[in-house]
Amino acid sequence: MRSVRKSFGALEVLRGIDLDVRPGEVTVILGPSGSGKSTLLRTINHLEKVDSGSISVDGTLVGYRRSGDKLYELREREILKQRTRIGFVFQNFHLFPHLTVLENIVEAPVSALKRPRKEAEAAALALLERVGLADKAKAYPKQLSGGQQQRVAIARALALEPSLLLFDEPTSALDPELVGEVLDVIKDLAASGTTMIVVTHEIGFAREVADTVVFMDEGRIVEQGTPAEVLEAPQHERTRAFLSKVL
Ligand code: ATP
Ligand code: MG
Repeated sequence: MRSVRKSFGALEVLRGIDLDVRPGEVTVILGPSGSGKSTLLRTINHLEKVDSGSISVDGTLVGYRRSGDKLYELREREILKQRTRIGFVFQNFHLFPHLTVLENIVEAPVSALKRPRKEAEAAALALLERVGLADKAKAYPKQLSGGQQQRVAIARALALEPSLLLFDEPTSALDPELVGEVLDVIKDLAASGTTMIVVTHEIGFAREVADTVVFMDEGRIVEQGTPAEVLEAPQHERTRAFLSKVL
């Protein structure tokens, strides 16, 4: 992300964001409510349009194409195609309620990537195995716990084999006893080299799994570094104040 700015009316929510995420790394974003974390994630797959600055994923500009020194916004179809490369896992799962677990996972590979259904189903079953839900393929979302639904949502994001996976507070809507099973799946993905940006308030997770911790406040990155740097020896008063509240 280069010099990304975004306002909603008079409120500037992103005030010049520069962020580099290296392949295979886990970046955890921390910050108080309203600091712009969700907006930042949403600009990365063009769910929010930036006002200025630019974002590239895998060397490809997100949402725009360059022609000379001008940028032109992509058509909806091209944007949807780009989004298949960038998985998004939401706080509230967002599963399709009328589809089974297996159908939820198979839907995008079949409709967006034109994968043969049989092949997509085999891949989906392997993903369900990976998130520990092989026995739930035929269940409907409302028959699952929140933790199980979120693991299905993660499997669904993985089914598109994205080069980047975004998580927006993936455990915030869960009962405390279900947080661990979802974090374990994300940890497993981290260990296998999936590139991820995770917005979370789980400091223990950040300490254990993050390569880089980013602290945001009022639309700016206040500091970033290794977990040891940002969590154990924060340089800025605002980071210290935030950590003293959440730790
Ligand atoms: P939280 O920790 O509560 O999820 P956040 O850091 O994710 O907060 P954002 O959701 O990015 O914060 O919101 C940043 C600011 O932008 C907030 O003041 C919010 O009210 C405002 N905002 C976000 N989306 C919109 C929108 N679509 N229209 C108007 N204002 C918005
Ligand atoms: Mg948010």
